Amino acid sequence: EGEGPKSETRSTCPYCGVGCGVIIASDGAQITGVRGDPDHPANFGKLCTKGSTLHLTATPQVTRQTRLLQPMQRLQRGQAPVAISWDAALDLASERIAGIVQAHGPDAVGLYLSGQLLTEDYYVFNKLAKGLLGTNNVDTNSRLCMSSAVAGYKLTLGADAPPACYDDVNHAQCLFIVGSNAAYAHPILFRRVEEAKRANPAMKVIVADPRRTDTAELADLFLPLLPGSDVALFHGLLHIMLWEGWTDPAYIAAHTSGFDELKALVREYTPESVAQTCGLRKEDLFTAAKWFATSPATLSLYCQGLNQSSSGTAKNATLINLHLATGQIGKPGAGPFSLTGQPNAMGGREVGGLANLLSAHRDLANPAHRAEVAALWGVPDVPEKPGKTAVEMFQAAADGEIKALWIACTNPAQSMPDQAIVRRALQRAEFVIVQEAFATAATCDFADLLLPATTWGEKEGTVTNSERRISRVRAALPAAGEARHDWRIAVDVAQRLESRLRPGQPSLFDYPTPESVWLEHRDSTRGRDLDITGMSYAQLEAQPQQWPQPEGAARGAVRLYENGVFPTADGRARFAALPHRPLAEPRESHFPFSLTTGRLRDQWHGMTRTGTLGRLFGHVAEPTVQLHPQDMERRGLKEGDLVHVTSKRGSIVLPAQSDTGLGLSQAFIAMHWGPEYLSGRSSVGEPLAGVNALTTSAYCPSSKQPELKHAAVKVLKA
Ligand code: SF4
Repeated sequence: EGEGPKSETRSTCPYCGVGCGVIIASDGAQITGVRGDPDHPANFGKLCTKGSTLHLTATPQVTRQTRLLQPMQRLQRGQAPVAISWDAALDLASERIAGIVQAHGPDAVGLYLSGQLLTEDYYVFNKLAKGLLGTNNVDTNSRLCMSSAVAGYKLTLGADAPPACYDDVNHAQCLFIVGSNAAYAHPILFRRVEEAKRANPAMKVIVADPRRTDTAELADLFLPLLPGSDVALFHGLLHIMLWEGWTDPAYIAAHTSGFDELKALVREYTPESVAQTCGLRKEDLFTAAKWFATSPATLSLYCQGLNQSSSGTAKNATLINLHLATGQIGKPGAGPFSLTGQPNAMGGREVGGLANLLSAHRDLANPAHRAEVAALWGVPDVPEKPGKTAVEMFQAAADGEIKALWIACTNPAQSMPDQAIVRRALQRAEFVIVQEAFATAATCDFADLLLPATTWGEKEGTVTNSERRISRVRAALPAAGEARHDWRIAVDVAQRLESRLRPGQPSLFDYPTPESVWLEHRDSTRGRDLDITGMSYAQLEAQPQQWPQPEGAARGAVRLYENGVFPTADGRARFAALPHRPLAEPRESHFPFSLTTGRLRDQWHGMTRTGTLGRLFGHVAEPTVQLHPQDMERRGLKEGDLVHVTSKRGSIVLPAQSDTGLGLSQAFIAMHWGPEYLSGRSSVGEPLAGVNALTTSAYCPSSKQPELKHAAVKVLKA
């Protein structure tokens, strides 16, 4: 028992983008419990298995075993790091970064961040790179998560703003769930879906997914489409809607542009050809088109099945086409609604924390936006040259172009596709900083300098969930060991860099508290689509709010585009006439299986946190590759037989498991398992750091999001 007073602290779950409110109980020395916040509008007191066990991942024992508790320097690569003081660590970081900038220019530095950082952390890092160093090489693992959703929204609706809200689930008469296993990835939102279906059994649920997941169990209509065929499906549905007269010509005429071009394109997507491309039945296409178009309100929920694709932007945009063509947007229960993977991928986008964005959803490519941000920051300019996106950044480091990498709150050695490139990048870079809460993250092994960061239960700031709702994250305990807040570390390094790079000038990083960072961010949103100038930290203390909430508005906007006006030059939404394109790496005779990856119910990302709890292995105890029973039989495999799963990039060994939910010639492996659970080698014989040794770094040309959802593999008995 701790000696301090028992207290309760309201905060937010750090796992998924549902963004559930939690109440943390502590005794002054440790966190003793966690329960759902009954007043939080994301979850009304409910928590899933991951959220409800958070306190067990923060016990003193787990902290001692897993956390990075003091700054460490690795004097020689391959050797154990040694502890150093914060002053020495910060001096070293600023000296090495400034030295590399002076010798090779600012683009020799790359910052790789995380959708798990808080908005305030993100803001400081982004300003540090773009305002102080003078490079746009700042990207995040949101590139692996939501960048196709961003590009899809901007292309069609004019802004990166999910128009719907969670309550729309209760108003929908048709739910179209596509590329999302929400039952596992967004459990508390899915519970809302189950309750809505129970309360209104007439509500039609369509689930489109190559795998028959637990989410699909709720479906009135399940569409097991072939991997990568989503764009063809959406065009095929529009073709049928047009043919049957199920579109909404009045909405199209009043609020959109570009329909004629799309109409001409979808002419060739006949039910026969689409049924074949997607591996679906024609009659199911008709049923889906009818329910979607003619229901009083249709809501689409979608996630990584659309985003993590070499056609990610096209998949997002062509789904939004369906909402625009049928007027299923801007009214209760209707709209396209991207489910955010990570807890704060939204907040990161809001402050411009991607290589192609600037503060408050501004675009780097827009000279007026660059000038506005430079004026806000008080710097002469913001560099014009686009920064390197995630895959490009590690490739540039592997090629020797980027010489310093600063990685914060993410584990690219495990989570990036094509791990051999990431490994080469981390080995070739002259200086690698890893700013991390967990010493167990595989990327720590490559760090020259390790900076210990605070984590859930210790941090203060804000996050934004999938429905644009900003919630406070609060500390229940002081920082563990010598850990510091991520925004604070960025400020500490920035101030030292300022004395080297712009001596004698007033600091751009004079932030005493996270609130002071947030207030600057708030100012940057004035007049933008996400304007929050009417919001305050004090209001958020009392109640999370949805953006936008411009000055004078008492509360945030529940739903967007109810007036049919979109944030484009002419106020009209734009149809996207983009064709279906094949997968980056189709199956072939040597690699005859389609590998898809996805989440487990009880694990999160690379398992640095959830992997510390035995009870979270009760649902799934070990990695397996799932195959259709007929594929097992054809290869002479029995349940549990070890197999080599091999792609062009690597090979791992794991037990085979039959699953009737998969199609023939498909294989599924959960994404979470790291090196301690797997054995195998990359194609060049290097050790692996996870399942992504198999996946491809081929990416969508618009969003630059890699195709983590599909790789061609072979499966051979070990
Ligand atoms: Fe946390 Fe997501 Fe579960 Fe809510 S649904 S408790 S945010 S993991």
